Amino acid sequence: MTDIKDILFAFSEEIRLRIILLLRNSILCVNCLTESLALPQPTISRHLAILRRTGVAEMGKDKLHCYYTLNKKDPFGLLKKGITKTFYNALKRIEPFKGDFKRLRAVEKKCNARCKVRI
Ligand SMILES: [Zn+2]
Repeated sequence: MTDIKDILFAFSEEIRLRIILLLRNSILCVNCLTESLALPQPTISRHLAILRRTGVAEMGKDKLHCYYTLNKKDPFGLLKKGITKTFYNALKRIEPFKGDFKRLRAVEKKCNARCKVRI
């Protein structure tokens, strides 16, 4: 079970915060996350594993792709409306977050998975 220390740990690393903000209203495949963050895929996968383990993110699958979202159960009601909204509003216009959203808008157009992007 997720406790508040897990949530705080998940938010305590810049790469994980960048992933969390990209997933805030979206459902994204690993490829879209990797291209949006412009970081090596193993790095993204390592942080996605931590986000899953801490109960912040969850993964779904179809035949070809794995998709990530924030945990729909939203432990403590923090993820969609609370902390993430505050971080998003504070950080969306500064780098590296600004670049992440710009790259996501470009990458979603060529993604052939069924990602749902809402920025
Ligand atoms: Zn995608």
